[in-house]
Amino acid sequence: PKIVIAIDGYSSCGKSTTAKAVAARMGYGYIDTGAMYRAVSLFFVRERVSLFNNKEITAALDEIHITFNHNNRTDRNETYLNGLNVEEEIRKMYISNIVSEVSAIPEVRWSLVAQQQKMGRRRGVVMDGRDIGTKVFPDAEVKVFMTADTYTRARRRQQELLAKGELVNLEDIIKNLEKRDFIDTTRAESPLVRAPDATLLDTSHMTIEEQVDWVIEQSDR
Ligand code: C5P
Repeated sequence: PKIVIAIDGYSSCGKSTTAKAVAARMGYGYIDTGAMYRAVSLFFVRERVSLFNNKEITAALDEIHITFNHNNRTDRNETYLNGLNVEEEIRKMYISNIVSEVSAIPEVRWSLVAQQQKMGRRRGVVMDGRDIGTKVFPDAEVKVFMTADTYTRARRRQQELLAKGELVNLEDIIKNLEKRDFIDTTRAESPLVRAPDATLLDTSHMTIEEQVDWVIEQSDR
């Protein structure tokens, strides 16, 4: 049976790497909801949309179309904003530095949550984010809430950025992670919180393989 697997948690706990691998092994679709908030942030920066002007925000949201396309060369899903590949751009530090503020805006969340709900129930899907088990799919069959200690998360993030040629020191990354966690957990509209029925997974001392096996085990129950 095709089900929804919701993976939520703090930034850089290995959610997306795990979710991608689980989806591949189960033959499911994968949706990276963080990429959608990042794409909206990129649009807002490019079009100089004021984060304090509701009219501008609502008008901008009407012009934003986010899609995912599979790149056969890299075998990865890539994010497209209004038909243009923005996969690389949205992972950069300047987007990480504003994405939590953008995703705290209620209008932004209403719009993206509605799109995610449409994308989700078509077939078996693994979706990762901050509010999948609480808001997007409260009835998901499997819910995982991932954590890891800050140092582990920052090191992983640093390696990811380095692999893309962006050199950022550990302190700046820790600051960014802590700031995003703070905004994500304290915002008014569907804050980041573990769903009561989500299983906690601390990945501090786990390999990706172990994390993937663990999630798939939850799905077999
Ligand atoms: O997953 P990722 O770290 O790329 O997400 C970027 C940011 O988008 C998060 O720090 C969070 O502020 C926001 N986000 C969210 N809800 C989601 C996914 C991401 O608020 N479902």
